This record gives sequence, structure tokens and C-alpha cells, in this order.
Amino acid sequence: MAARKIDYLLIGGGLASANCARWLREEGAAGTVLLVGREPDPPYNRPNCSKGYLRGEESREEPLFRPNEWWGEQDIELLTRTSVTALDLDTRTAKLSSKEEVQFDHALIATGANVRRLNVPGCELEEIHYLRTLGNADTIRASVADVQDVVLIGGSYIGCEVAASLTAIGKRCTIVMQERATLERGFGEHVGRFFQGLLESVGVTVHGEDELERFEGDGRIGRVMTHGGLELPADAVVIGAGVTPDTQLAQRAGLGIGERGGIACSAQLETSAPGVFAAGDVCEYDSPLHGGPMRIEHWDVAFNHGRTAALNMLGRDVPHTEVPYFFSVLAGLGELEYVGPAATWDEEIVRGSLEDGSFTNWYLQDGRVVAALTFGRSDDLDHARRLLAEKPVLDASQRAALGDVNSDLNAEHS
Ligand SMILES: Cc1cc2nc3c(=O)[nH]c(=O)nc-3n(C[C@H](O)[C@H](O)[C@H](O)COP(=O)(O)OP(=O)(O)OC[C@H]3O[C@@H](n4cnc5c(N)ncnc54)[C@H](O)[C@@H]3O)c2cc1C
Repeated sequence: MAARKIDYLLIGGGLASANCARWLREEGAAGTVLLVGREPDPPYNRPNCSKGYLRGEESREEPLFRPNEWWGEQDIELLTRTSVTALDLDTRTAKLSSKEEVQFDHALIATGANVRRLNVPGCELEEIHYLRTLGNADTIRASVADVQDVVLIGGSYIGCEVAASLTAIGKRCTIVMQERATLERGFGEHVGRFFQGLLESVGVTVHGEDELERFEGDGRIGRVMTHGGLELPADAVVIGAGVTPDTQLAQRAGLGIGERGGIACSAQLETSAPGVFAAGDVCEYDSPLHGGPMRIEHWDVAFNHGRTAALNMLGRDVPHTEVPYFFSVLAGLGELEYVGPAATWDEEIVRGSLEDGSFTNWYLQDGRVVAALTFGRSDDLDHARRLLAEKPVLDASQRAALGDVNSDLNAEHS
């Protein structure tokens, strides 16, 4: 079969690809756009998988990026249940699992990430789950429908969100994690303990500083055994142990991989092959904001990367300078929002009060704000974005103002 010619080939059926397609059209791209994704669903918002969709409160259509008819209206060809199996960057040709070959002018690689699987004794037992897709959420909901005890492995946002969601639909949830406090890795122990307290207040049991040793059961999961000696009854298990960027296709095509494990890209999100871009979880870009390589697995970053990649496919030459934003919702308990990210910091300043459940936690390194987390004080985020972008070193009175709810941050830091 002779290869057909496509102007813009978007590989991966997630948010980054979808938003790239949208911005290509919004910015006037006249050529052919083909989006190829291996999942059965058209592009959708993955965050719903651990929130309303998992609880059975949303239809299959609600998480969709756009309604089904939108793709045709935009003259964007959408192939679901189809993988790109090989990329030849010399001939600029892609092979699809349908055996079709496509020749492209520009390409986007937005293949996302895969869950990190834990290979421990008993991991083959039934009712042990991972969560990445709508299909996984369906399986988990069916698995817990008629049972009581669910054990979550991992105390990051997936473990916490799933625990909150399943508690809200009447399940008894237990988290086992290596950290001292939930969400500690991203946000520190102090704030992590606050979120753990929220989860415990609705009945979630949390076992920190421990580790999964093995699963036991007769065909299906029955118990989770930990290195610390716990034996936890489990009718179902959900593992949230992080993800790894899906760079297989890019690596086979000979593209460079960065120090953070993603496809190495310029600030314009272009890979080492001219005209071939990457976006979303798989993209490691040279971030002007952070002064070096960054790879971030956040919904908002995938969304904004899609736009930056589209603009650069159209020759606009724009670096990706957005301040990365993250949100997480604990069912019935509230929403945290965060800008950063910061791997290290040497000072934390609280504005508001954790006890009252309304605060912003500022993270500083050498006197500069490097991240901020807010719970119930979203208005502080604009200020946080400004401090992250401008990077001023704050003096003692400016730092004191960060912690004082009565101070006008715009006046103090202008
Ligand atoms: C359960 C869950 C909850 C989340 N909640 C939040 C949240 O509350 N806040 C937040 O900021 N972030 C959240 N995230 C993270 C966020 O959803 C991701 O960062 C975002 O979806 C990444 O988008 P992406 O397009 O880069 O990749 P993905 O969404 O992973 O999409 C990539 C797609 O490409 C497909 N693909 C891979 N290889 C090929 C190939 N060779 N050919 C064709 N298709 C291919 C994959 O199957 C996948 O469908 C959550 C993630 C999960 C799993």
C-alpha cells in the first residue's frame, strides 16, 4: 500500500494530542490533520478516572475532550484503537497497526505514560488493579461493587483520590505507603499530614513508612502483607506507584532521551528531528522557567504543551513558558491546587491556617518562591505564578507578608 500524505500527524490519543489538533485549526492550519490513538475512546480527560467517573457519577461521554461530532466538524481525522508501530524519520513515514503507512510533514509524539507495575509475589491474583484509563475505572468499580475492603498501594495523589472516591461510595479503604505522610513526596510532610488527616476523618486508614511485601489469596486477592508485618484484609487492591513515560516509539526511531526519562526537546518542544515535536507526559523540554530540563505529568501541562506544539508546527517559534499547574480533588473533602513543581526547598511559609482548612503553603529556596500549594485560597495562585516567573529574592518583610493573610501581596511584592 502506498503511503498517503498527511500534513500533521499526531501520535497518541490523549489530551496533549487533542489540544494540539484543536490549536492547529484555531490558528488556521489548512492542511490535513490525523490523530492516531490506541485506546477505544476518543481523547478524554484522564483526571475523571479517579474522581466522578470512578464513583459512577458521570457518563462515558462526560470526560470527553470534545463531543464525538466535533472531530468531523473540524476536519480532523481521528483513528481510535490504532497504534503507530514505527516511525522512520528519514523518509518521514509512520507505520500504523492497521498496516497503513502515512507520510507526514510535521509530527507530534504524545504517547503519554504507562503505570509502573509492581512485581511482587501474588501480583497475578485477581482483583489487583492499576488505574490509567476509563476502562480501568470501569473494572475497578465493578470489582468493588459487592465487597468492602479495598487496599491502596501508594500514598501519592492517585492512592489518595481513589481512597477518597471509594470511601465516598461506601468502601473501607486502607492506604499502605513508603512515605511518612500522604502526598509528602510532592508537597512535604507538614502539608501531607494535613491531607492525611482529611482522609482519616472520613475513615480511611493510613499505614505510612511501610512497604508492600506480597499479596495472598486463593485465585483472587485476600490479604496484603507488608514488610512491617501488617496483614490487611483486601477484597480488591488498587496500585498507584507512579508512571514511566512511554518513549518506546521515539527510542526505536532514534530520538534522544533526556535525563528525566522523556523525549528530549527544545524549549519549543521540538525533538532532535526537525518538525517532529513531543508534548505531555512523554515530553522532557528545556524549560526557560525552570532553567533546565523538565518533565511533568500534569493535566494542565499536557493541555498547554499541545498548544505550544501546534503554534511551533505553524512556525511561530514560541518557547513553552507556562507556569505548570496541578490540581487534585479528594471526593467530598476539597481540592488542592499547586504551581511549581519544586523538587527541593529550604523554607515553607503558611498563609492562612491548616487547622481552619484554608491556606497557601509557599515553598522557597534561597529566598525565592519555587512552588505554592493552596487549599481554599485559589486567589493566591496568580501571585504565586508571578513570583515563580519573575523569581525575586524576597527580603524578611516580603517573606513575612507571604504568611500574613491581611497583607496585600501585590503591594508588598511589586
Ligand atoms: C487516574 C488519573 C487521574 C489523574 N488526575 C489528575 C489530576 O487530578 N490533575 C492533574 O493535573 N493530572 C492528573 N492526571 C495526569 C494527567 O491526566 C496526565 O498528565 C495527562 O493525561 C497526560 O496527557 P498526555 O496526552 O501526555 O498522555 P496520555 O493521557 O497518557 O495519552 C497518551 C495516549 O497515547 C496512546 N499511545 C501511546 N503510544 C501510542 C502509539 N504508539 N500509537 C498510538 N497511541 C499511543 C496511549 O494509549 C494514550 O491513550 C491523572 C492521571 C490519571 C491516570
